[in-house]
Amino acid sequence: MDSEHLFCLFCGCPVPKHYDTFREENLNFSKGRPQFVPSDDENFHKRDEITIQLVDCPNCRNVSIDIIGKGRQFRNRIMNFNPISLAKSYPNYIPLTIREDYEEAHAILNLSPKASATLSRRCLQGMIRDFWQVSKRSLSDEIEAINDLVDPSTRKVLDALRKIGNIGAHPEKDINLIVDIEPLEAHKLLKFIELLMQKWYIERHDNETLLQDILDMDTNKQSQRKPKNS
Ligand SMILES: [Zn+2]
Repeated sequence: MDSEHLFCLFCGCPVPKHYDTFREENLNFSKGRPQFVPSDDENFHKRDEITIQLVDCPNCRNVSIDIIGKGRQFRNRIMNFNPISLAKSYPNYIPLTIREDYEEAHAILNLSPKASATLSRRCLQGMIRDFWQVSKRSLSDEIEAINDLVDPSTRKVLDALRKIGNIGAHPEKDINLIVDIEPLEAHKLLKFIELLMQKWYIERHDNETLLQDILDMDTNKQSQRKPKNS
């Protein structure tokens, strides 16, 4: 939730930011102790804080609640308290294994962003294999195979997601080299998966439905036509 625009996490409706619709509370261990100045390393963690944000949606009457971490210990951590998961529920025409990987990647987003990124990578591979009917030795080869079928910007991001997902999937050769993935970063990968779900599966389904509707309409109209001289 940025400072300018608030959105309801349930219905997606924009929510005006004023006293009746938005509340924010900060909590830390120096709160209420104005004389407390954490100076040494031992006490510095007392400055780490959480911010709780509540948005009351006038449209659907649900209250969205996020808990946002600040400071050394909770840095970059966002927890969705209500709704508990931001995972969208996708229709049955998207294969179950793909939906499960996506939902699981959402569920462990804060607990283990690295594992979440690995699941996003697996979800992506499942989507490429199912949607484009491509199956190669590696995900890298599969992305290469659909090179001409997707737009150049999507292709670049596919490759980036593959590489970021590799961080969790394969340990670095140099064990002293640790690359961390933050929850916000893993969340962005999931947003990209959502974009592909929309661009590939949902658009294809909607287009097919529209075409079928027109064909059905034509059949229907033809059957209603009466012979001219009757
Ligand atoms: Zn709402």
